[in-house]
Amino acid sequence: MSDVPVERQSMDVDIVCVGFGPATGGFLTELSRRLLNDDGTPRFESKVMPGMPLQVICYERADDIGFGVSGVVTKARGIRSTFPDLDPSQIPMASPVVREKVLYLLDPVGASRRSSALRAADAMLRAFRAALPYEEHALELPFTPEFLHKTGGLVMSIGQFNQWVGSQLMASGTTQIWPGTPVDEALIEDGRVAGVRLLDQGADREGNPDASYMPGMEIRAALTVVGDGPVGPVGRQLNEHFGMPAGHKLRDWAVGAKMVIELPDDTPLEAGAVLHTFGYPEPEIFGFLYVHPERLASVGIFVPSWFDSPVRTSYRYLQHFIQHPYLWRYLQRGTLRSWGAKSIQESGMHGEPYLAGEGYARIGEGSGSTNVLTGSGVDEAWTTGALLAEGVVELLSEGRPFTKENLERAYVGRRRKSWIESEGRVAERARNGFQKGLLTGIFGMALSGLTKGRINMPFEPVQPYDRLPTFEEYYAGRIPPVEIAHIRQECLARGASVHEALMERCGWPRIEHDGKLLVSHQDALLIGGKVQAPSGYADHVVFLYPSLCETCGTRICVEICSGEAITMSPEGSPQFDREKCVHCGACLWNCAQPLEEDAERTNIEFRAGTGGLHSTQN
Ligand SMILES: Cc1cc2nc3c(=O)[nH]c(=O)nc-3n(C[C@H](O)[C@H](O)[C@H](O)COP(=O)(O)OP(=O)(O)OC[C@H]3O[C@@H](n4cnc5c(N)ncnc54)[C@H](O)[C@@H]3O)c2cc1C
Ligand code: SF4
Ligand code: SF4
Repeated sequence: MSDVPVERQSMDVDIVCVGFGPATGGFLTELSRRLLNDDGTPRFESKVMPGMPLQVICYERADDIGFGVSGVVTKARGIRSTFPDLDPSQIPMASPVVREKVLYLLDPVGASRRSSALRAADAMLRAFRAALPYEEHALELPFTPEFLHKTGGLVMSIGQFNQWVGSQLMASGTTQIWPGTPVDEALIEDGRVAGVRLLDQGADREGNPDASYMPGMEIRAALTVVGDGPVGPVGRQLNEHFGMPAGHKLRDWAVGAKMVIELPDDTPLEAGAVLHTFGYPEPEIFGFLYVHPERLASVGIFVPSWFDSPVRTSYRYLQHFIQHPYLWRYLQRGTLRSWGAKSIQESGMHGEPYLAGEGYARIGEGSGSTNVLTGSGVDEAWTTGALLAEGVVELLSEGRPFTKENLERAYVGRRRKSWIESEGRVAERARNGFQKGLLTGIFGMALSGLTKGRINMPFEPVQPYDRLPTFEEYYAGRIPPVEIAHIRQECLARGASVHEALMERCGWPRIEHDGKLLVSHQDALLIGGKVQAPSGYADHVVFLYPSLCETCGTRICVEICSGEAITMSPEGSPQFDREKCVHCGACLWNCAQPLEEDAERTNIEFRAGTGGLHSTQN
């Protein structure tokens, strides 16, 4: 990037928001209702445009406000408290939850990597299957643990929900939402966040100006609301600049991948049915199937950071998941309507940053709101935004500025008294058992859930790269190192990742593409989610130190990449294709090499960027 200073335009607003997900949806909805008096006149005057109502603007990176990848099944307590008369039929693809099941999926193909204890348990289940709620290689748990229940809740599409919320906001005339406008960074001046800078347009891949260069505008605001999700660059910039509270770390992650499938005409699945699964395609991979109205289903998996495999491919595993006999009887003859992948920040309150500072507040998943025990993030994110709105209106009414002290009292204080805090505390250490494997993990979750967080497994999360084995270590006893070397060379020559070849070598059946539901990863990018990348922007995935890549054994960035956007060059170094990136952020935390100057960061930088996957059904 050129160091020549550029002249930027500047605009003043009262409140600027980064990202339009459920968190900002909750913030803007609650705020907008309180910005008008009963007679429709503005309640607060703008400080930057005297005589005008409060100026509130939100910038969303993706080309549409219906961007998002999520389940979603949610208790929707926060959402319902904002919309007490909520009628789910008004939200496309939404349905009340009608039944829930938890299933342990056994391995029908014999290829997954199961411990001997798990194999013995599987053998027992098969032997006594006639006496158990067992069908199609799956055991239905006799009950859904209380903490997993979503009774009274909703099945939704996050894309449709965000659009529904956004259209009401825009119609209210109280706030503006600008999609297709990534925020490059926060403006930090003398320890205060003074607004944001938008991303430069008309730049080459390295960020150097070209003929149509347009420097990103500076948007100055009294309050900057950061709701840019789990891997948002502005949230991470604040984490780096202001540091994290003592002991807080971002080390637990998962990449969630899903398909939206149109079910066959004669499907027996009813809207509102919810299935949670574990055990297959690998024991560590959790899955879900949620049924929407009009014969649509969201089907997906989570590949966690504690899955000790260098072949963490979410797309290929998702294809095996949907073909598990228990699910396949419902899904075969279905049609892929959409597809997507996105990171989930699973550290919960372990990863909570400073929630407020001078001139800024953090909301949503990037603020540590996602609950890993209940598997719930949307309602939590929404509620953090709604609580901030209440606090902001209190400060506006009192005529107080958005200082750290005032925001701590008006926002953080509300959050500490809310169910987000009490339930987040219960969940805080619920996942720690997974550091030592699946069975310890399940036991630990049950322990935390049943004791309301009082008793937990003692293991501390470690960085994903610290637990990542090499291919040779992972396949020891199954594939000789010399054969692994040969497979790698052969894949490199074809420019392909190695996971397909290694998985098939270990017994995973080849995926028989049918052009309808089982399609290649490349076809999924084209037909499933429609990946877009407007020209004139710098690459947003950057390999910081090429020398680290040269010595990197696993090159997991290639294996994990949800869009096949990272490939190996013939010389053996990773290369990035912006056209294919779905902005899942998985490369950021999966990279196998920490930075010498900061071991909490990796050799991949994930910056603000445009485009990505576009599907309003996800
Ligand atoms: C596959 C999958 C399944 C899930 N299932 C469930 C479920 O069943 N139930 C549940 O409750 N939760 C579920 N979750 C989690 C849930 O989706 C998240 O917790 C929730 O979306 C978080 O909301 P948010 O508003 O904090 O962030 P996000 O939804 O991530 O929204 C952040 C927004 O900020 C934008 N943004 C990022 N950077 C910038 C920038 N620089 N400039 C401008 N905009 C930016 C992003 O494009 C995005 O739109 C699931 C997640 C995944 C991936
Ligand atoms: S980006 Fe990270 S994982 Fe990929 S080759 Fe470089 S160091 Fe290895
Ligand atoms: S390059 Fe893009 S699609 Fe690939 S892992 Fe990184 S963010 Fe996801």
